[in-house]
Amino acid sequence: MRPCLAVLICVALAAAARAQVPTLRVRVLDYAGLPAATLGNFQAPARAVFAQSGIASEWPTCSIRSGRGNCQPLADRELYIKIVPQRPPHGKASFGTTVRQGSRGLFSYVFWSRVEQAARQYGVAPSLLLGHVVAHEAGHLLGLDHAASGIMQCEFAAPQILRAGQGSLRFSGEEGAALRDALGPRLAAGALPLQPAPEARRRADR
Ligand SMILES: [Zn+2]
Repeated sequence: MRPCLAVLICVALAAAARAQVPTLRVRVLDYAGLPAATLGNFQAPARAVFAQSGIASEWPTCSIRSGRGNCQPLADRELYIKIVPQRPPHGKASFGTTVRQGSRGLFSYVFWSRVEQAARQYGVAPSLLLGHVVAHEAGHLLGLDHAASGIMQCEFAAPQILRAGQGSLRFSGEEGAALRDALGPRLAAGALPLQPAPEARRRADR
C-alpha cells in the first residue's frame, strides 16, 4: 500500500471512531410548570457541559401541563428526567436524584423549587443552574457516580452554583471519557442497559 493511501485510510478510520460517539438524547418532562424562559433556555448550558467532553446532546422537552413540546410516549430505551415542583418531604436538600435499580440508573428527578431558590439566592439565571443540574443527573443515568469536585459533586454548594452561573462547571477528563465509553457502544448497538425495564418504567410513572 502506498504511504499516502495508508495515511488517508488511518485518518478515515480515526474519523469513523470519533463519529461512533452518538448524540446523547435526554427527554425532559416538566411536571412543575416552569417559566417559559427557563424551559426554553436550560438546554444550551446542558449542551455546553456535554460538548466540553466531546459529546453532542439534545434535550427535547415536554410541558406536561400544557402538552406542548416533545410529548410523544417515551421510547423503550429513552433516557428521561422529570422536573417536579418539590423534593419529597423526607428527602435531602439536593437539587435532584436518580432512581436506580441496583447500580443501573432508571430515570432522574429534578426538584424545581430547590433549583429556583438557589438560583435566586446566588443571583444565577435559573435556566443556567437547571442546565447544569440536568447534566449532573444525565451523568448518573450514563453510569457516573459522585465525585469530590466538579459537576458530579454530590451537593451543589456555593462554589458549584457560582461556577454554573459562569458556565465553567464541567465533567472531569476521566468522567468525560467514561461518558463517551458508555455512549458509544451502548447507543451504537441499540442497547441501553441503563434504561428501565418496561414494568419498572410503568411503576415509576404512576
Ligand atoms: Zn447526584
